Amino acid sequence: MGEEALEFDVRKDCFGRQVVLAVSRASRPHDAPKPRLQKTTSPEKCFFCPGNEHLTPPEIDRIEVEGRWEVRCFPNKFPAFHLSSRKAYGRHEVIVETPDHQKTLSELSVENLKDYLSMLARRMQSAKEDSRIKYVSIFKNEGQAAGASLEHSHSQLVAMGFVPPYVQKMAKKKAVLEKMWGSDKKRRWHENENFFAFCPKVSRFPYETWIAPKNSLNSLLELDEGLLFSLASCLKDVLGAIDSELGYKPYNLLFHSAPFQASSFPFHLEILPRSSTWAGFEFATGVVMSSSLPEQCAKHLSDRLPK
Ligand SMILES: [Zn+2]
Repeated sequence: MGEEALEFDVRKDCFGRQVVLAVSRASRPHDAPKPRLQKTTSPEKCFFCPGNEHLTPPEIDRIEVEGRWEVRCFPNKFPAFHLSSRKAYGRHEVIVETPDHQKTLSELSVENLKDYLSMLARRMQSAKEDSRIKYVSIFKNEGQAAGASLEHSHSQLVAMGFVPPYVQKMAKKKAVLEKMWGSDKKRRWHENENFFAFCPKVSRFPYETWIAPKNSLNSLLELDEGLLFSLASCLKDVLGAIDSELGYKPYNLLFHSAPFQASSFPFHLEILPRSSTWAGFEFATGVVMSSSLPEQCAKHLSDRLPK
């Protein structure tokens, strides 16, 4: 008596990941007020703000608009991979996405986002020219809970001399994954001419969203100007809807592209909003507990898209 009605499910994906769902159908979990991000560092003291370029390692690339940088890239001051290391051979770069200290990625214009994606592709191409680099991982940690140590919006690129096993596994699953994504209309909540967005059936986080191309692609390097713009537009809509639904939430954004020697790979982006925390059970079992149904998340996010 008085117990809330729960719906249970256990799901497993093609990577062997398991999620156990205990979902209340009665109430929507996110009805609290939605605060906007409050940054505490001032632009004067920010390493990534215009005017403080001398505080970062020497710049290696930039995209300018009207004589001022819009996207800027330099080596990470605290690299995990380095050209001087035998085992951890590689590059570790930082990409500042905007000169605006206050803005988050979701608030950038589609043009700015397109320049950001172009920069990622350019840096990836540059890494590819080094034959010892086998794989490039690009990711963004937004907010402290998602691993960001500095507030000014930025991404990271790690170019490495080996291909992680998880990435190798993903390459082998290309056909399975793309077929599944393409036929899964239940959890698809947005699309444009070239890309679509969906909450995966086995979501590790509430509102987890993946963006995939309608026509199969292997890597960010295969996107021409038109596709880069289209992806920027889709990313803007997706991040905007997540912001609108959850308010400001830390998240991770992952770009999955083919290792340089792989001929095929399921290119896609993953956005992992960090509204839940992995804890004892997840670390002990590798199984994720979740109280959000991906189908419901997809519906809520779809409702947040501009009409
Ligand atoms: Zn700043």
